[in-house]
Amino acid sequence: MRELATTCCIAGGGPAGMMLGFLLARAGVEVTVLEKHADFLRDFRGDTIHPSTMQLMQELGLLDDFLKLPHTEERSIVARFGDRDVPIADFSHLPVAAPYIAFMPQWDFLDFLADRGRALPAFRLLMRTKATGLVRSGGRVAAVTVETPEGEATIWADLVVAADGRHSDLRQAGGFTVREIGAPMDVLWFRLSRRESDAGQTFGQVGRGRFAVMLNRGDYWQCAYVIPKGTLETLRAAGLDAFKEGLAALLPVVADRVGEIASWDDLKLLSVAVDRLERWWQPGLICIGDAAHAMSPIGGVGVNLAIQDAIATANILAGPLRQGTLTSAHLLAVQKRRSFPTKATQKVQLMMRRKRKPQGGKPTSGPPAFMRAIARSRLLPHLTGRLIGMGFRPESIRT
Ligand SMILES: Cc1cc2nc3c(=O)[nH]c(=O)nc-3n(C[C@H](O)[C@H](O)[C@H](O)COP(=O)(O)OP(=O)(O)OC[C@H]3O[C@@H](n4cnc5c(N)ncnc54)[C@H](O)[C@@H]3O)c2cc1C
Repeated sequence: MRELATTCCIAGGGPAGMMLGFLLARAGVEVTVLEKHADFLRDFRGDTIHPSTMQLMQELGLLDDFLKLPHTEERSIVARFGDRDVPIADFSHLPVAAPYIAFMPQWDFLDFLADRGRALPAFRLLMRTKATGLVRSGGRVAAVTVETPEGEATIWADLVVAADGRHSDLRQAGGFTVREIGAPMDVLWFRLSRRESDAGQTFGQVGRGRFAVMLNRGDYWQCAYVIPKGTLETLRAAGLDAFKEGLAALLPVVADRVGEIASWDDLKLLSVAVDRLERWWQPGLICIGDAAHAMSPIGGVGVNLAIQDAIATANILAGPLRQGTLTSAHLLAVQKRRSFPTKATQKVQLMMRRKRKPQGGKPTSGPPAFMRAIARSRLLPHLTGRLIGMGFRPESIRT
């Protein structure tokens, strides 16, 4: 069994873990990031880079290089009711360097952070290294046990950060209390080709009580089709042809190419979870990003929240970690800082999926109340643009 020591050990090389690793190393804290996979290549992940993240890149002097990576830019998000387009979020007015959402494969974003991190002497990234458990000593978490291709090892650290996503191994090992918020939906992700003659913009399509999102990814559409939770088997029983017919009716713009879905294997199920921890920390350990709060896909805010958590964590903990003065009060301060935006965002997400009240005993169909309200207003798209693009409490780098 090998033994290693570091100041801060971060489990998980997703947006939260990689950004925190980079920011701490930049602030002179010796940091080791563990990623269980050999690379960052995974399809259908959160591929949205929000204006607030690009503002951070600007503050770090990295924005110009970052925007050289292939991406598409969306200054607003549109919901399509039948053939009527309604802007539901407008980012163009935001007072930031890049007032739009950049769609970029998450692996490009993470590779970019990894490259910048490796240039810093305090940064160490261990790929194919899975955090498997916690070691407690002196009343606190003092180390992480890991599996590597060379065998098992123990990594001792002043602080362990669980940034290992919604199925976090470390939050389970820590025995944290999880508050399930409930998510009565699943999402099917798939690709359909995109043609030059198609509308250019990413949009949400609402119709017949169903909802889909089409993300413009250049030569293809990345599509998310929302289904009631646990109904994939019912869809499968009805057959692929029936599924494709329903899809073509909802998405006339790609009705001529639903045949590209050759089998159920072309559809990837995202089982939606919405939850948050009652307490994000224990002495020597803190959870951030999806490990602390899995978000609903509504608004596509998971990556943004994960990055904002990382900035706040670096702002509050870099000094005490560098000076060796870290206490539980610092960990509590991180939770206090990020708890409000997490709860507020989840509350809005719950509100957004609320259906219209039945009228005269009859169930109603059509868009949820929030979409109809936004559709009627000229100002609301600016507000939703701010909330989606920047979040409830935008963070700024202070280290
Ligand atoms: C299909 C899908 C589509 C999504 N679309 C969007 C979107 O459009 N916009 C948006 O904002 N959000 C989206 N999300 C949510 C978004 O991806 C997450 O909210 C965000 O990635 C959270 O970042 P994170 O760093 O906290 O966790 P993650 O991104 O989950 O990263 C965790 C990392 O930890 C690694 N890991 C896990 N366990 C261990 C372990 N034991 N040891 C070491 N490493 C480990 C994982 O391999 C992973 O790299 C989507 C999610 C899914 C699944």
